[in-house]
Amino acid sequence: MATKTVAVEEKIYECEVKRRRVRAAGGYEPFWKVKTVAEALIDGDTEFRCKHCHGEVKLHKRAATQGGGSHVTHKSRTDSEHCCDAVRVLAATNGHEYRVSSRPVR
Ligand SMILES: [Zn+2]
Repeated sequence: MATKTVAVEEKIYECEVKRRRVRAAGGYEPFWKVKTVAEALIDGDTEFRCKHCHGEVKLHKRAATQGGGSHVTHKSRTDSEHCCDAVRVLAATNGHEYRVSSRPVR
């Protein structure tokens, strides 16, 4: 393979999806469950957030044959720069502090 510098695209394959469960006291309560993006799509989940910083994410549906499959990316650039998952993916340099989203999804 030729050596070429390629900008690493942020791709997160695991996210949290909002589900509901029955409460012991009655009624339902929402909770967040970690699963892969591919699984969430199969299950028909509609509410997603980053499992690390809880920031808003954007869904990218891809066939598995097209560069790794479905994934999510942060909607906010600030989240991308500080989320530990994204920082790892982007191979960012020192000086980035990990922190939760400034606008977490609840
Ligand atoms: Zn994040």
